[in-house]
Amino acid sequence: MRRLLFAANWKMHLGPEEARAYFKTFRARYNRRDDREVWFFPPAVSLEAAAQAARERADLLVGAQDISWEPKGAFTGAVSAPLVQQAGAKATLVGHSERRHVFGETDDDTRRKVAAALAAGLLPVLCVGETLAERDAGHTTAVVTRQLSGALSELDGGALSRIVIAYEPVWAIGTGKNATPQDAAMVHREVRAWLQARSAARPRVLYGGSVNLKNAAELLAEPELDGVLVGGASLDPETWAQLVQTGAA
Ligand code: PEP
Repeated sequence: MRRLLFAANWKMHLGPEEARAYFKTFRARYNRRDDREVWFFPPAVSLEAAAQAARERADLLVGAQDISWEPKGAFTGAVSAPLVQQAGAKATLVGHSERRHVFGETDDDTRRKVAAALAAGLLPVLCVGETLAERDAGHTTAVVTRQLSGALSELDGGALSRIVIAYEPVWAIGTGKNATPQDAAMVHREVRAWLQARSAARPRVLYGGSVNLKNAAELLAEPELDGVLVGGASLDPETWAQLVQTGAA
């Protein structure tokens, strides 16, 4: 059975109190379904509150939006994989486009963060995707492949099997312009082939970029999509509860 993964990236929204209230509403509106799982990426300060609110539901999982590549030490302001794990995180985003393009994170940074996540037992969700200029120049495949190799080429099939990829074209994030299901599917096939060539078992590839209640069903009808990573439309628990019931598995 196809098991869809719905991932919510709250970005820099929803503190601990708000996270608790969010989960109260969300849990009341959404009952567990075997054909889907729901992951939440709250800001670091809300991880513990979110993880506690999600703890009795095996279909809900909480992760960090970012981690340091170092496990501990004098890195003021940074949060490590073991620390987010103590707060209840089971996964982490790595290389989100805002980390790459606002904070200047490089492919090598993503490599070190994926390694740190795996070492701590967290499931990395590696985000990849091209800018509009790269897309217009016909470089989508080259960019995505470079980001995959940069972060993952040292890993064996066992480690690669623990990684979820989120294809998030930069021009689609927070812009209201989503990729078409066909465009996304083309990149997803390439990502899957890259992973399968390196012995990853059943790679999961999510699409992200302006997914909302209006376009989710059409996107998820495309079998290449194993789920979605959603920013803006995940911030309201009622909307998110509706969105995660979209799409036949
Ligand atoms: C994201 O933050 O990963 C994202 C896809 O944002 P949005 O859904 O708002 O485009």
